[in-house]
Amino acid sequence: MNILERYHAMEYGPAPEARNEADAWLAARDFGKVLFIGGDWKAATSGKTFETSDPSSGKLLAKVSDAGVADIDAAVSAAAKALPKWSASSGYQRAKVLYAIGRAMQRHQRLFAVLESIDNGKPIRESRDIDVPLAVRHFIHHAGWAQALDRDFPDHKGVGVVGQIIPWNFPLLMLAWKIAPALAAGCTVVLKPAEFTPLTAILFAEICGRSGVPKGVVNIVQGGPEAGAAIVNHAGIQKIAFTGSSEVGKIIRKATAGSGKKLSLELGGKSAFVVFEDADLDSAVEGLVDGIWFNQGQVCCAGSRLLVQEGIADAFIAKVKVRMSRLRVGSPLDKNTDIGPLVDLSQLDRVKGLVAEGAKQGAVCWQPDAALPSSGYYHLPTLATSVSPANILAQEEVFGPVLATMSFRNTEEAIELANNTRYGLAASVWSENVNLALHVAPQLKAGVVWVNGTNMFDAACGFGGYRESGFGREGGREGMFEYLAAKLPLGPVVKPAAASVQPVERSEGDAIDRTAKLFIGGKQVRPDGNYSIGIATAKGKLAGEVGLGNRKDIRDAVAAARACKGWPEATAYNRSQVLYYLAENLSGRADEFAARLTELTGAAAKAAREEVEQSIERLFLYAGLADKFEGRVHQPPARAVTLALHEPVGVVGIVAPDNAPLLGLISLVAPALAVGNTVVAVPSEKYPLLATDLYQVIEYSDVPAGAINIVTGRSAELAGVLAKHDDVDGLWIFADAETCAKAEADSVGNLKRVWTGNGRSLDWTSADAAGDALLRRAVEVKNVWVPYGD
Ligand code: NAD
Repeated sequence: MNILERYHAMEYGPAPEARNEADAWLAARDFGKVLFIGGDWKAATSGKTFETSDPSSGKLLAKVSDAGVADIDAAVSAAAKALPKWSASSGYQRAKVLYAIGRAMQRHQRLFAVLESIDNGKPIRESRDIDVPLAVRHFIHHAGWAQALDRDFPDHKGVGVVGQIIPWNFPLLMLAWKIAPALAAGCTVVLKPAEFTPLTAILFAEICGRSGVPKGVVNIVQGGPEAGAAIVNHAGIQKIAFTGSSEVGKIIRKATAGSGKKLSLELGGKSAFVVFEDADLDSAVEGLVDGIWFNQGQVCCAGSRLLVQEGIADAFIAKVKVRMSRLRVGSPLDKNTDIGPLVDLSQLDRVKGLVAEGAKQGAVCWQPDAALPSSGYYHLPTLATSVSPANILAQEEVFGPVLATMSFRNTEEAIELANNTRYGLAASVWSENVNLALHVAPQLKAGVVWVNGTNMFDAACGFGGYRESGFGREGGREGMFEYLAAKLPLGPVVKPAAASVQPVERSEGDAIDRTAKLFIGGKQVRPDGNYSIGIATAKGKLAGEVGLGNRKDIRDAVAAARACKGWPEATAYNRSQVLYYLAENLSGRADEFAARLTELTGAAAKAAREEVEQSIERLFLYAGLADKFEGRVHQPPARAVTLALHEPVGVVGIVAPDNAPLLGLISLVAPALAVGNTVVAVPSEKYPLLATDLYQVIEYSDVPAGAINIVTGRSAELAGVLAKHDDVDGLWIFADAETCAKAEADSVGNLKRVWTGNGRSLDWTSADAAGDALLRRAVEVKNVWVPYGD
């Protein structure tokens, strides 16, 4: 055997990472007393514990205090007590603490990495080179945000006490994503790690105690769903930040409905990995290994659906199989290991069950010929081919090392297949033609798109999803907003319509005989039910009648809004001109609208005129901002630029308030339109004639059919239909508290983004009820990573 042959025949020897320090740490700790509350270590009030074990062997690691309702209560009290001082501390003081945490974590980097691998099963190479350094980076990056708050977020303040619940797949990293922005914003936190992986959070709490974190600012409670639910339902918490499954995310959306708690949900995914025929196939194979087998596929943004162009499919799959055969499955503490065990036996059983079901549904599942370690929860990397789009492996999040493969013929088909999922977290696009990649990226319904790369993350770049992958972003500027409350000028409490809208009947003396129709798809149409309601003047006489819209009318309006491509695809300059034109045409009929306001609301002539003028001014404002509310370019510490694009949310349902019925409606519809959303608006139930009078203004203003749809009728009923409609992407509701709460609870079907006034309206005359604060709600930020260099 010559040297070259010898070289190729060489086997890997074991390269175990030392675990003595971690074992010493485990041996020295009293895990029955690890609730970190108010700076002290406490046992659970109930005395209960739960077990955490090593997934590579199944052996018990520790019996950990299991928090219950009383412990959560104590943690929230500690956080509330610490809040005034912490939130009043200077940005510089908070920055120093965040920096000190980051530095202390760096000093314990090795211990963190080993503990993470022991507890979770992830290969040490990953915990050492990715999880821990990135967690450190989050604290150091956010130290800067603490000091930049006044500069970058004027008129915002921290939301208060925050409840944070995280999963087991990136225990320390998820903790960092949660705690760092919260502390920077001046919030105090109660964080609950997942019950499979409590260890690194305990080490982190020790570090907090030594890094100058004031007592009660960070509270870390261990436990399972019961402790999580106690956090979600606690009245002393102002915001819930959750990362985990879509199933639990929906439970939390429902549980917090009507509570006024701010909410961000980072949920599951079924991300597409799209390979075009002109891609560098070897790079794409390496990308795929990282995309689906990183952390055994237990990654929310795992590229678990491989979409490969037909002409190269066979060659590409052959390369993937060769590469899969070289993946080393083994001990997480071995530095050569590519694939460790899954986190728990239950997770292994779940993955096996899904693979079996996928095969039953026609998928061909292939695994490399490799031996598994004799103990532990290992699963071989698995490639499923002949997968139909409806196959369970193409639709369900497996959260394991399983790749489902499909092929496509052309770009349109690739986009269609990629978007054929209820999720929308991430996507990866491979092509040597950057023009093609950047043509595809905006069309993918996903919060993050990697071009010729995958699983790139950074503290400065927002991460988060569309659709059932949740809402809100973590990281960077967008992530900071999740922990800040904007100063919005409150308006009156909104009463239920039944209490404020008195039906008026037609009487003999009423001359008017005109029923305003609905405005759907650019046309005035009769309501489906053929019913109308009489609208009263301020003096109680009949002012006119409007159509009583129903479920079918809302469905038609949503379909028209969805079908309207001309508006979202128009240039911002074009949208801007249309909004200016709307303003111009409204201005031409200002007297008429002012008279209508006076007639309906009893407003004095001057006040009515003022409301019309302000409505015109607001249209002008959003016309002007349409091409200025732009995204950003981030420069993460990698050879890549990240384009944070502002995209429209999609179809936005708007339920407008009674106060300032013209200005309120326009203040909501205009920002949604400005950034390219299409709108289904339900105008004030009491004064809908101001909206129906707008039809002609809209018709004369070059607004594409379907961009604005208006359905008059019962606000509460129509809000409910919009909330349950799975083709509505965003919902803004200014109605009574019960209608708002119900809409939030009913929105779980597709996890649409809901913004309500919680039973209050805004003071629409204030300049603070306009501008960026509204535009931000009208966009999704999509981060497109574009690496550079040869
Ligand atoms: P999970 O939803 O079962 O649990 C997540 C956390 O919620 C745990 O701490 C758990 O104790 C807690 N919990 C469970 N039931 C609860 C309830 N009723 N009320 C309050 N809290 C409750 O998810 P998991 O199995 O731990 O994690 C895997 C999931 O997390 C996957 O779906 C994955 O995609 C997702 N994930 C998403 C992201 C992201 O950024 N989008 C990141 C990592 C993981």
